[in-house]
Amino acid sequence: MDVAGRLLRLRERLAKESLDAMIVTSPTNIRYLCGFTGSNGQLVVLPDAATLVTDGRYTEAAPAELQAVGAEAEVEIARDSFAAIARIVSGCSSVAFESTDVSVADHDRLADAVAAPLVPSTGLIEDLRAVKDEGEIARIEAAAEIADAALLATEALLLERPTEQYFGFELDTAMRRLGAAERSFETIVASGPNGALPHARPSGRTIEPGDLVVLDFGALVDGYHSDMTRTKLVGAGSSQQQEMLDLVTAAQEAGREIVGPGVVAKSIDQTCRNIITDAGYGEAFMHGTGHGVGLDIHEFPAVSSRSETMLQTGHVLTVEPGVYLPEIGGVRVEDTVVVTNDGYRSLTKSPKTASL
Ligand code: ZN
Ligand code: ZN
Repeated sequence: MDVAGRLLRLRERLAKESLDAMIVTSPTNIRYLCGFTGSNGQLVVLPDAATLVTDGRYTEAAPAELQAVGAEAEVEIARDSFAAIARIVSGCSSVAFESTDVSVADHDRLADAVAAPLVPSTGLIEDLRAVKDEGEIARIEAAAEIADAALLATEALLLERPTEQYFGFELDTAMRRLGAAERSFETIVASGPNGALPHARPSGRTIEPGDLVVLDFGALVDGYHSDMTRTKLVGAGSSQQQEMLDLVTAAQEAGREIVGPGVVAKSIDQTCRNIITDAGYGEAFMHGTGHGVGLDIHEFPAVSSRSETMLQTGHVLTVEPGVYLPEIGGVRVEDTVVVTNDGYRSLTKSPKTASL
């Protein structure tokens, strides 16, 4: 991963917006820019320097983490981080802060301490993060491979009438055994009528023959997430269940097929939505089609009906349409894909066959 180049790219953005400095407070953005993974820190970026302000718990770990990724930033251990930040930006005439991350209370303390005007800023670093380098893609791909392998290792268990919670635990454990640092987010195992809730939490319900089971899960590798959904049909299903599976799979593949550089993200949503709407299930697809994936499970770019983002090589995103019917259940199919120069490459490889 080219971590050192990230501070340079941020400085170019700051210069373009005539900002002298930026106080970065989002832990994910700090990790992205300098490799620091501690729970308390602020990274102050100036045109020719950067300082990570943190506390005494990280006296040894912070310089080691910065050095490990080759980030050119100083570490300052401070008892009063507001005073330290004020001193570092004392010569600046405009100082950006992350307005989506800083609390009102912290903003007031910062405004008292810093002489220069504080300029709210959103999306600057998130925009840089959206375009992944080879090292980042390799980590997301490793996470996606673990998720694929974990499903393969556990799916037969669905035939043995496990509860949703039990199956979710087995899937999570398989991912950990295969090398995941953690699961990417709380695994969704939504069977039968529970599948009608797109974000159902695993319950004590027993998975029965004839159920559709939505499995939405991912692995975490070196800070990077993967995200995939497969919907399984346990035993024999009804013709409507099969129709829902075929429809969502076809919509997902059609949306995925148009991914490429220069494509406006909302056209992926539109492609999936048109197919589902034409089949009469438009009302039953009530969420956006996808999202970026990286150091956060949900990040730029959004893939919704309103997303005007033009896709670029290196964007990593999900395509995940679904259909949800009360009492019957849900079907969702999701792949994580990377935008390449000539289209896309799917990092999720599991087959889309629903029957076990
Ligand atoms: Zn998902
Ligand atoms: Zn997702």
